[in-house]
Amino acid sequence: MAMSARIFIVEDEEPLSLLLRYNLEAEGYRVDVCGRGDEAELKLREEAPDLLLLDWMLPGLSGIELCRRLRQRRETENIPVIMLTARGEEAERVRGLSTGADDYVVKPFSVPELLARVKALLRRVNPERIADELGAGDIRLDRTTRRVWRSGGELHLGPTEFRLLEFFMEKPGRVYSRGQLLDAVWGRDAEIDERTVDVHVGRLRKALSGGDGRDPIRTVRGAGYSLDEKFARA
Ligand code: CA
Repeated sequence: MAMSARIFIVEDEEPLSLLLRYNLEAEGYRVDVCGRGDEAELKLREEAPDLLLLDWMLPGLSGIELCRRLRQRRETENIPVIMLTARGEEAERVRGLSTGADDYVVKPFSVPELLARVKALLRRVNPERIADELGAGDIRLDRTTRRVWRSGGELHLGPTEFRLLEFFMEKPGRVYSRGQLLDAVWGRDAEIDERTVDVHVGRLRKALSGGDGRDPIRTVRGAGYSLDEKFARA
C-alpha cells in the first residue's frame, strides 16, 4: 500500500529520531525531523504535516507547550499529534492528552507499536492518505496497481506524472508551490530546476485530456498548482 503522508518528528534524542525516521521512511512516509521545540513551531507555521510525533521534553519550547499553541491556531488546530513521553505517571499522561494530543506513547516503546498507532491515527483523521484508491471527478487512481482511469478509460502516465497526480488527488483544492511539489514528488534533495515541475504538470495535463474534457489541474498565478476542487467534487 502506498503511503505518502508527511510525518514531522520533533525529538531531541538523535538516535531515537533517526530510528523513527528510518522506520517511517521504510513504510513509505515522507519524514522531516527537528530537534528543538521553538524551531519546530516555526516550521509548522510554514507547512502542516499529516501527523506530528512530538517529544514531551524539548529544548527551546516543551512539547506540551508547543501542542497547546498548535491547538490555539486555526491553521494548526487539527494536526494529529502523538506525544512521546518518558514520563509514565497517570497524572502526566492525562495532562499530555489535555493539552490536545490525540495519542501518546511512553518511552521506551516498541517501533511496531508506534507504527501501528501512526497508521491508526492517520486512518482516523485522513482516510484518503492511506486509501488504496483515490477518486476525483471522473478520474480514478489505484495506488496498489499504479493505474489511472478517466471516465472509465485507462490512461498511461509516466511515473513522475503518476506521483504528481497522486499527490494532487490527496488534497483537492490545496494549492502547492513548485518548491512544495519538488519536495513531495522528487524529494527534498533532488537538484532539479523548478521549471521541471511545469514540464511535468504539462505532461500530466496532456495525459489527462479526454474524459469529460475539463482540465482538472488549476494554475494559480504566482502561487503554483492544485487539483481543481470543483472538478474533484463533481
Ligand atoms: Ca526529549
